[in-house]
Amino acid sequence: MQEVILIKDGELALKGLNRSTFEDILIKNIRRKLSALGKFRFEKAQSTISVSPESEETDLDEAAEIIGKVFGIVGYSRAAICEKEMGTILHTAEAYLGEKLDAVKTFKVESKRSDKKFPLTSPEISRETGGYLLRRHPHLKVDVHSPDIVVNVEVRDKYVFIHGNQEKGAGGMPVGTNGKGMLLISGGIDSPVAGWMMAKRGIELVAVHFASPPYTSKRAEMKVHELLRKVAVYSGRIRLYTVRFTEIQETIRDNIPEDMFTLVMRRHMMRIASMIAEKENCQALITGESVGQVASQTIFALNCTNKAAKYPVFRPCIGMDKSEIIEISRKIDAFDISIEPYQDCCTVFTPKHPKTRPTPELLDEAEAAVDWTELLDTAVKTAEAQFISVNQNPEGSY
Ligand code: ATP
Ligand code: MG
Repeated sequence: MQEVILIKDGELALKGLNRSTFEDILIKNIRRKLSALGKFRFEKAQSTISVSPESEETDLDEAAEIIGKVFGIVGYSRAAICEKEMGTILHTAEAYLGEKLDAVKTFKVESKRSDKKFPLTSPEISRETGGYLLRRHPHLKVDVHSPDIVVNVEVRDKYVFIHGNQEKGAGGMPVGTNGKGMLLISGGIDSPVAGWMMAKRGIELVAVHFASPPYTSKRAEMKVHELLRKVAVYSGRIRLYTVRFTEIQETIRDNIPEDMFTLVMRRHMMRIASMIAEKENCQALITGESVGQVASQTIFALNCTNKAAKYPVFRPCIGMDKSEIIEISRKIDAFDISIEPYQDCCTVFTPKHPKTRPTPELLDEAEAAVDWTELLDTAVKTAEAQFISVNQNPEGSY
């Protein structure tokens, strides 16, 4: 029996004229992610995209799992394809879903007919199919309100799709439909979650990580790569810039009052991230900050950090509790990596008593003790860029 995966796209339906462009980006994203499994054919019709493997050997279980992690999809289901003839439809429904029907108590049939030349109307198709299945599974009852399984029969132009319940998709919008954002990624719990949340809204991610060797280790950098790989399962491959931050941090330590160390450091992160964002044509910065979580994330501190950014700073975790952030972190399989204990540059030279009510003016004044221009330029120039992708292959397709 020939099988395909049917995909319902999400908010795309709202996009009117842009719909087709959005669908094309979604198809491109799916195609990339499936490329490791083989070649697939894509067809779009009536807010459904059908994905069919070109070879019979292709593993559809794996394909379905990958599709479940592509943003821009509300729901998807495996479906059998058959000829547009009522007898064939009945046999296919039984062969494809019979076992599933044995395992449940209630069902209903829903039919759609986009080919109006098909001799039966949708209610007639449902009635015939329902009757046929009931005769073969006499324990079943029809429940039109909340059945255990819905048997879907969709009569299209070329063939008929038959499928059971739909799986929930990853939601959101296709990555690449909302421009690019620069994710500041540490090795912590929050920033990978923040990146995932913005990718979900269709933003393509570029990432920047600040490393301060020898205070921070190579292992800490590898941890960031591992985290980005987890995000890339959803977002597609991510270009990562690793910035050498040691000299700037030492200059802060030697020239800035201790209670302002962290905030001056965070402002320089924003400045450097903004410079790379400009090169990369990003329209926003993304951080994992959450209001009040630590001293550098009080509303006063955030106001100071913000002033150093050239682009809007998206902080999708801002109103979330740690437990809510951890829930997403676990869902995307990042949590166990995040809690590995490697030193981040944020924990190098941390003040014992950070300023509780900093103001941008106080920070401007403190920062004026040093001409940072060259230090910042050098940090940007010497940043190393590389692609992080799911399959560890730097030239990999996703
Ligand atoms: P996270 O769990 O993401 O590390 P956090 O609660 O530990 O967040 P901070 O360490 O204060 O908070 O960092 C706040 C945000 O600053 C991070 O979410 C991240 O976006 C950014 N950030 C912190 N350290 C780095 C780093 N070494 N490189 C890049 N960005 C960083
Ligand atoms: Mg951190």
